[in-house]
Amino acid sequence: MTHAADLYQELILDHGRRPRNHRALDGASGKADGHNPLCGDRVTVFVRVEGGVVADVTFVGTGCAISQASSSLMTEAVRGRSVAEVEALFGRFHDLVTGTPADDAAQDALGKLAAFAGVAEFPMRVKCATLAWHTLRAALAGPAAVGAPVTTEDAS
Ligand code: ZN
Repeated sequence: MTHAADLYQELILDHGRRPRNHRALDGASGKADGHNPLCGDRVTVFVRVEGGVVADVTFVGTGCAISQASSSLMTEAVRGRSVAEVEALFGRFHDLVTGTPADDAAQDALGKLAAFAGVAEFPMRVKCATLAWHTLRAALAGPAAVGAPVTTEDAS
């Protein structure tokens, strides 16, 4: 368990330092801004959905290592998945970081996202870890930038 925890820590540090898919996306079909005022994290998520599948997803933003690593790993986790699969994965990720016990199927589905299990011990960090996901859902909900930015303060 300690070994796994070390690997998870390493993964989060690596993605926090060198976020993947950290760029704006040309031809995005959806875009949303997210803000976590409790920590100061800001993220903009771009998606391109084709035939109900996330064909591409990127983000730009600034914030703590957890928020950047979560955004980075989120983009890797959802690319190639259907919008319904993304919803299901978000549910499992939310359970993980809020400490809801997961079954084996959920653990398998989470893959690298399981690295955020430790966040459950730090309630202040839950919003850092879920900001990218809330913002992704807003980006998937429709064409660009209608409505107010997502803030973790209206989200559960
Ligand atoms: Zn944060």
